[in-house]
Amino acid sequence: MTDRASILIVDDEVSNIEIINAILEDDYEISFATSGQEALETARTILPDLILLDVLMPGMDGFEVCRQLKSEALLADVPVIFTTGLGDTADEVRGLTLGAIDYVTKPVEPVILRARVGNHVELKRLRDRMAEMAVTDALTGLSNRRGMEKILNTETARLARTGEWLSVIMLDIDFFKLFNDNYGHPAGDRCIAMIASALNRAVKRAADVSARYGGEEFACILPGADAQAAMFVAQEILLQVQTLDIPHAHSLISNRVTVSVGVASARCEPGLTPDMWINHADSQLYQSKHGGRNQISAHIFGGEVAEEVSELKDA
Ligand code: GH3
Ligand code: MG
Ligand code: MG
Repeated sequence: MTDRASILIVDDEVSNIEIINAILEDDYEISFATSGQEALETARTILPDLILLDVLMPGMDGFEVCRQLKSEALLADVPVIFTTGLGDTADEVRGLTLGAIDYVTKPVEPVILRARVGNHVELKRLRDRMAEMAVTDALTGLSNRRGMEKILNTETARLARTGEWLSVIMLDIDFFKLFNDNYGHPAGDRCIAMIASALNRAVKRAADVSARYGGEEFACILPGADAQAAMFVAQEILLQVQTLDIPHAHSLISNRVTVSVGVASARCEPGLTPDMWINHADSQLYQSKHGGRNQISAHIFGGEVAEEVSELKDA
């Protein structure tokens, strides 16, 4: 993996691409396309950090490419700089209203091109970093509640097209107030971070997401996981938390830190909303607390089945 920003150069004239490439190739990963159609396909594949886009091209021109880029969720945030020989104010205005971030005229002046590209790439990276921070929990590095809800929205919509299973796990540290009261808030924070690491070990498939849902409450989204698969993960979570072996002399049920777990599973279908998984998982979590803590409760909802599948007491 390279840390260099990637730039897509689009121009129907290969000689223009060669000139720009020579100016930028020492500092960036360069890809190129010689038509609007090719530009869109390449952009979708490599998700560049910046696109240098020729305006005048036969077939699909730069304006149309820009319009399509801005209409695609994955590409809308990629900065576009138009390159044109026209130097026409009307074209400049049109490009900027279409969402281009800047304009350079050909023949390009190397110093100016380097400076503008450098500025826009740096801004893009800052924006990416801020967007990432907005959905990440600082203490644990897991998704925060906002990030988790975003992913759950996307996944329920995506899986509804094929009617696949989705499971959500909610868990909460048992008697954590007593932990804080006795070991102090900094130790409480370390405990939360360790539980997050246990979650990372238990929730392993690439599509699965773990999140810090609230103070001492966590959630996992398991796309494609039916009730049985989710139960397996939930048991692995209890096991990994047990393996942490964090002393909790003041817990009313154990001398180690434990968690209570709620699982909700359903086949995704139109009409089932993301908050249904959260609400069902949360009420199963409540069941686990009520049933004595350090245990898993699970529930299948939606469709014709709405039955409690299991309530396992952790030995
Ligand atoms: P239960 O078993 O019913 O979940 O009991 P509990 O004590 O864990 O639950 P309660 O909701 O009464 O207390 C949660 C505690 O978690 C209180 C709060 O101070 C603590 N907490 C929440 N967020 C943080 C955090 O970020 N760091 C630390 N150290 N403590 C936190
Ligand atoms: Mg051209
Ligand atoms: Mg708690």
